[in-house]
Amino acid sequence: MRIRKLSALFALLFCFTAFSPFAHADTDDAGIEAFVTRLYDLALQRQPDEAGLMQWTSLLSERKATGISVAYGFIYSPEYQSRNMSDEDYTELMYRMFFGRESDPEGKASWLSVLDAHPGAEGREELFYGFAASQEFSDLCASYGIIRGDYIIGRNMDSVNGINLFVDRLYRLVLGRECDMPGMTDWTRSLAGGEITGTGAAYGFFFSPEYEGRNRSSEEYVEDLYNAFMGRASDEAGRQAWLGVIAGGASREEVFNGFAMSSEFAAICESYGILRGDPIRISGGHVVCIDPGHSSVVASGVVPLGPGSSTTKLADTSGTYGRWSHTHEYELNLDIAILLRAELESRGYTVVMTREDNNTPVDCVTRARIANENAELSVRLHADALDNSSANGAVAICITDHNPWNPQTYSGSRLLADSLISEYCSATGIRNRGVSEQDDMTGNNWSTVPCVLFEMGFMTNYSDDMNMNDPSFRTRMVTGLANGIDRYFENAS
Ligand SMILES: [Zn+2]
Repeated sequence: MRIRKLSALFALLFCFTAFSPFAHADTDDAGIEAFVTRLYDLALQRQPDEAGLMQWTSLLSERKATGISVAYGFIYSPEYQSRNMSDEDYTELMYRMFFGRESDPEGKASWLSVLDAHPGAEGREELFYGFAASQEFSDLCASYGIIRGDYIIGRNMDSVNGINLFVDRLYRLVLGRECDMPGMTDWTRSLAGGEITGTGAAYGFFFSPEYEGRNRSSEEYVEDLYNAFMGRASDEAGRQAWLGVIAGGASREEVFNGFAMSSEFAAICESYGILRGDPIRISGGHVVCIDPGHSSVVASGVVPLGPGSSTTKLADTSGTYGRWSHTHEYELNLDIAILLRAELESRGYTVVMTREDNNTPVDCVTRARIANENAELSVRLHADALDNSSANGAVAICITDHNPWNPQTYSGSRLLADSLISEYCSATGIRNRGVSEQDDMTGNNWSTVPCVLFEMGFMTNYSDDMNMNDPSFRTRMVTGLANGIDRYFENAS
């Protein structure tokens, strides 16, 4: 049975007691039967009918429903709704169903005030969420041997249920364990919000430190892929073929994509109501340098504008600050760098940083040397300032093709600049000021690897400044920058 058919089934359960599509639950299901019987008793105040008990029990034991989705099925059933319970009785029921106890006067009063402020279905949904998505209900479900699942206000229960079960499946098949609730909640929100796809979630599990820590052999890795993406054990011919691909030098990421793009996985995603998504981009283990501009302690003295140049510039400068956010540029640059490092590492990159705190002075020649000695490219994070507060947008700065010191890095730097600016602006919606080629940036001139000084936005412009201080906007900034680096490596020869 497909999970997305659940709502039809929920409706049927309370209408046709003779309808019985499942085999009878086996004796291991005693705990689950007790969980279901308890819901009949509390919500409907009656003994379960045999068919209904069997169906709910089967859904739970076959992992086609979560504790929350079944509780939802009871509370939102016509039979329960027709009981027309008062707010007070509804609140008391929530305590009994989800916490397994009577209310305390103080707690009950605060929930009743929620129902006063939001009368009708809206307030009752808030209570359902508040009680169901609690640690107490997690513990209660665990004591009956079922997973709690999650609830998202205003979101179709079937769709959340499908996502929960998809995530639960990844925990068991990839990590070989039951889910933990914080993890289940994070994955569910990301999938429900469309921030990741089914393939992206599977990648998060297969390339997590936890999976890495399991030290799976190639044979075991292929078997895990069969289970997760095909929903079955390997067949001998298929297994040998994939092991041959690995022996031929393919990376685990490439093999992952082969499985993720199978029609079997597309069908699995569809059955859980999940978008399968694109193959993951292969990072190939590249090494990149992130250079967060400036510092609270500014490197003193002067340095040559380029190797061997008689022209000198200040070794570093203090940078600008947010006219509305009151954030220092060096803080913003480091905050974004740390987020970008985490994002790049999750995509398989190795990241080198020129500084990791706000108190270390680093001159611009040292910044370039750290990249030159350790990395394949350098992204220098900065933010802009102008007296004219209407100036806004991002710009990528690289050397010209006739740079006096390192012109051989021009084509790579220009490709990196183009890749970063277009991906960054499309992820953030920030104004695209394009690429600026100039030879007056010390750190760029000393760089022997492709290098871009990236001005992320204007700290002197109200909306750029406030956006760059906003956590969800920062996530988009980091996604855009990481996509730009992915795109560079896809197109670099
Ligand atoms: Zn700067």
